Amino acid sequence: MKRTDYCGQVDRRHLGRTVTLMGWVHRRRDHGGVIFVDLRDREGLCQVVFDPDRATTFATAETLRNEFVVAVTGTVRPRPEGTTNPNLASGEIEVLAHGAEILNPSVTPPFQLDDDNLSETVRLEHRVLDLRRLPMQRNLKLRHRAAMSARRYLDAHGFIDIETPTLYKSTPEGAREFLVPSRIHHGQFYALPQSPQLFKQMLMMAGFDRYYQIVKCFRDEDLRADRQPEFTQIDVETSFLSELEIREVMEGLVHTMFKDVLGVELPDPFPIMAFGDAMRDYGSDKPDLRVPLKLTELTELMKQVDFKVFRAAADMPNGRVAALNVPGGATLTRKEIDDYTAFVKIYGAGGLAYIKVNDASKPNEEGLQSPVVKFLSPDVLKSILERTAAKSGDLIFFGADRAKVVNDALGALRAKVGHERGLAQPGWKPLWVVDFPMFEFDEENKTWAARHHPFTAPKDGHEELFTRDPGATLAKAYDVVLNGWEIGGGSVRIHKQDVQAKVFAALRISPEDQRRKFGFLLDALSYGAPPHGGIAFGFDRLVAMMAGVDQIRDVIAFPKTQRGQDLLVGAPSPATEAQLRDLHIKVRPSDAARTA
Ligand code: ASP
Repeated sequence: MKRTDYCGQVDRRHLGRTVTLMGWVHRRRDHGGVIFVDLRDREGLCQVVFDPDRATTFATAETLRNEFVVAVTGTVRPRPEGTTNPNLASGEIEVLAHGAEILNPSVTPPFQLDDDNLSETVRLEHRVLDLRRLPMQRNLKLRHRAAMSARRYLDAHGFIDIETPTLYKSTPEGAREFLVPSRIHHGQFYALPQSPQLFKQMLMMAGFDRYYQIVKCFRDEDLRADRQPEFTQIDVETSFLSELEIREVMEGLVHTMFKDVLGVELPDPFPIMAFGDAMRDYGSDKPDLRVPLKLTELTELMKQVDFKVFRAAADMPNGRVAALNVPGGATLTRKEIDDYTAFVKIYGAGGLAYIKVNDASKPNEEGLQSPVVKFLSPDVLKSILERTAAKSGDLIFFGADRAKVVNDALGALRAKVGHERGLAQPGWKPLWVVDFPMFEFDEENKTWAARHHPFTAPKDGHEELFTRDPGATLAKAYDVVLNGWEIGGGSVRIHKQDVQAKVFAALRISPEDQRRKFGFLLDALSYGAPPHGGIAFGFDRLVAMMAGVDQIRDVIAFPKTQRGQDLLVGAPSPATEAQLRDLHIKVRPSDAARTA
């Protein structure tokens, strides 16, 4: 038998034709002598009817069970009136079988494939079966279409796909790396790349002008939230373009992908927001602009008040007091406010002060309901109402702490309240965030660290600044943000050797370490490196958003769990003594075993 069609694609156009389908038994129903089988393949389901008139075929049908693989030949006919299924492409037709062959039986699967309440552990343990489910087939097909769209766009714009090594060298670029021991070189290690950053820069120095790669990157970080130890980037680098020109080409890529994959026209052009403005207005460098709420700056105003909580934060050198007005928020219950208070505590906030604006014309204890009103003068209260533009029926939340805590807490609260109170607009809200600081202070190590990575160029005019005032230096770095997610980030790179060396020095990388770790880069920069820059998009997140799923695990065929395990194959797993010996490695007793 030779397959003629995919199950999910047989429809009215095939009426009267003989088709041969091959797929899996999704469901089998006995209906008083007639057997119905929903046959499934990657394109969907098709109803096949087995009639006792054809004794041999019918006998085969009787032995079918879920997940058997079968080939069926039959005639396409309309479904009887009243039995059509508008949810299926093949919902108006059925195939009357006149031949069937079992290609392979199946043992009973551990779950029903259309069970929507499976635990993720079960799904990941039985990933092969899980991937057979139609939503997963749809997600991975969408991922393919997104990749193809990106490839077509990049190819049309002159980008060349060049592979870079996976066995790389350990370099201090930010994240913790995975190490791979070398068998041949005793005691030496490769590192898996956090990204192909320096290879793509060196490809520019090698004259390829435009590069791209859809590439795996590896970061050995705690898998907070929705991260994977290995993930995929659309990685891009260009030569001789300005920051603005790079952003234009990359915006075109995002536009094209959304158009190709979802038929969606994203706003054109994307709005552009400076990092400082984003932090001031949204408390976040990846604001979800579907939520129209903004923070109100109150730091200066609170320098005048006696109320300790606000005053102390306002007087701190890196303190901030800000407000978030929630329209209609006066209807929030005590319990809801308590829940929001618990929520901001996750971000380090000590509490969540609020004022319910019952009557905005009375900015005092009569019109305002709040545990803090009695500590604030009528002038200050009036000023708060004016600045937040709060109206009767609104509720104002306050954050007062170190600026980082206020931004993290109110920034997250803004998005949460906005979505939960139905204030968010539907659709897609992309933006560019630009003018990032070049460095950020690493409180733990008491040093300056590169905010993007140490190869990012300072803004024009800031080349000298970073030696004097690292905190005030801005970088030619940019992020693409979509609905509150950073979907891509990049920068113009340093292409002068002396500037690169100075940035390394500002990051407290000694001249010896610079040579040892980055000698290859410094050398390449000294042989005529062109101005260059690029970006990388987080492909997993982008696809998850397009697919409308919350977790990137749902758009990755074989993902790891939050604990970095592959439950299907059982990785990681111990190595044999012989393997370890080959690699010159001795496993230390674990901390637990040592203290036991
Ligand atoms: N390599 C950077 C990253 O992975 C992106 C870039 O600067 O192009 O974040």
